[in-house]
Order: sequence, then structure tokens, then C-alpha cells
Amino acid sequence: MAALEPQTWSRRGVLLGAGALAACGPAQRTAGKAGAAGGHVNVYTARHYDADKQIYALFKERTGIEVRALASNGDQLIERLRAEGEATEADLVVTVDAGVLWRLTEAGLLQGVTSPTLEAAAPARFHDPQGRWWAFSKRYRVIVYKKGAVDPAELASMDALTTPRFARQICARTSSNTYNLSMLAARIERDGRAKALAWARAVRGNFARDPQGSDTDQIKAVAAGECQAAIVNHYYFLRLKASGDAAERAIADEVGVVFPDQAGAGAHVNISGAGVSTYAKRKAAAVQLLEFFFTPEAQRAFQELNEEFPVRPDAELIPTLAEFGRFREEQVAFDALGRNQPEAAKVFEEAGWK
Ligand code: FE
Repeated sequence: MAALEPQTWSRRGVLLGAGALAACGPAQRTAGKAGAAGGHVNVYTARHYDADKQIYALFKERTGIEVRALASNGDQLIERLRAEGEATEADLVVTVDAGVLWRLTEAGLLQGVTSPTLEAAAPARFHDPQGRWWAFSKRYRVIVYKKGAVDPAELASMDALTTPRFARQICARTSSNTYNLSMLAARIERDGRAKALAWARAVRGNFARDPQGSDTDQIKAVAAGECQAAIVNHYYFLRLKASGDAAERAIADEVGVVFPDQAGAGAHVNISGAGVSTYAKRKAAAVQLLEFFFTPEAQRAFQELNEEFPVRPDAELIPTLAEFGRFREEQVAFDALGRNQPEAAKVFEEAGWK
């Protein structure tokens, strides 16, 4: 297999090469026993957010355990864990997207763990029944629209994006993006393949331009009037809105947000989650960090630092999230998002959504 280089290997703010990972030899493997102060825990993460560094710093303050994070994308994490096998130094694997959690689980790369703390914090639907993954935050795929050009009532459903009203008015990112794959995978689960294909084909027929760019790029294109609507994760809008850069705040001012399908299936929801590596050398510390993600402090930090919704039902929402009001979320089981992703990729291809 191809060599997999980490994007970053952050330790106390210093970027190190992959060699640092190999340097964690057997002598260090006994450090960081259950609940003991000190030691470290290795995290392989597919989350690309600064928020996590601050949460790891908080964890160190509370427990004395240092978090060493190796960041990469979901596919690379899976390949790396497969290649390393029993020799891996990964203790906790953290990722966005239910599909990636499902693939990690299917590949046998995560082990079942549980604890009264975890069980009390995460509703049943938000963890694997065998404890191989635990979701700690939620993200919604919403519609952003150009204020002034669109009445939000016109976008009450994702189905509205298929109508002649939005001909040549939709911007989208590519179909290989995991957020889009999971969204279509959920639709396949709810409505079946034929209807999902018809939806994707009709939305593609309304594209203003070829799929390109990130979620943030879609918001910028809508704000600039290149198109009137796009599908994005909610937090990218909130980040622009809260940006220190006035130009970015001006972009957010140009667009509105709809949580669609409130009269139907509910807004598509995806998760961030984590699981303990099958070959974790510091399992107790990994469980401690996993439990830490569910503390009120961390559940608030995921909101404040990354604008994600907390999984804990009793977590208080910060004002920027509370402002969206109450809304319904899609109830498709998260493992279906992973199971149906290969089919979703085929459907996108058939639909001509690049
Ligand atoms: Fe993201």
C-alpha cells in the first residue's frame, strides 16, 4: 500500500513527522494506566477542526493525560489502521461521518467498550449496540439560500431543489464528498434506490455549475449570486457568521438557512464519533477521553468552538445554535449511512452528479 503521511502530528502545539509515532516504543506502552494522572493517549482523528486541540488541552488539565493527535482524512485513517494492524499506536479513533464509523467497525478496527458514564450520556441511537463507536456531536445538512432572491418557504423540503423553480440555481460539491454520500445513503434507506436516483438526477439537472469546492465555497457562491441555493453542513454557515473577518461575516449576511423536511423525514443528521482502537495500548486512557467528550464541559466546547450540536439530550444549547429553534431530524439508523454509501456513489454516478 502507499505510504500514508499524517497531515499533522500535533503535540503541545509542535508539528512532528510520522517518525514521532514510530518512536512510541514498548517502553512507553505501559504509561497512562487507568485513571492515573500523567502519561499520554494517542488519537487518530479525521476531524479537521481547531476545536479539538482545545478539548484535548482541557482533558490534559483535568486528567494529566496528554493527547497526541494524528490527523488525516477518514479513508487514510482506515488504511493506516489496517496497515498497522496489531502494531498500531492508535488508542482512540475520532472521526466525522457515520459512514466512516461504519467502515471502521466493519473492518474490525474498533473494539467494544462501555461504561455507565457513556451509557447515561449517549442515547441508544447514538452509539453502536456493541460499543464500538460513540457519537458525541451532531451536524445537519441544511439548505442555504440567497436572501432576497428566495423565499425560505420555497425550500421547505430537499425535494424543492428538484423543481423547475430552481433551474440553473443550485450549487453543490462533488458526490465523492462523504457528507453528500451519507445524505444520499440516508435517502436510499428511507425512500429506496429509484426515488433517490430520481432526486439526485433532478437536483443535478438544476446545477448552476459543475460540482466543485467545499461547503464554505457553496455558501460563498450563493452569497455572490452564482446560484440561489446549496446544501451545506450548518456549522460552516455559523463559522462565517462568527468570523473575525468582516468580509466573511458579510457573506453570511447574504444567505439564509433552512432546516428542511420538517413536515416529512426531518433534516438530515450526521455525527462525529469515536471508538477505541482494537489494538489500543492505552485502552483505559482512551475510554477516559471518550467519556470526557460527553462531559458538560466538552459538550459545550464542541458547540462553542465548532458550532456542532451536542448529543447529550440534557446539554444546554449555546445561543447561536438555540437560534435555529426546535426542528425535527431524520431518524435513519446511522449504520445505514455507511452500509448504503457504496450504493449512493453508484446512484450519484448514474444521476450524472460528478
Ligand atoms: Fe466538516
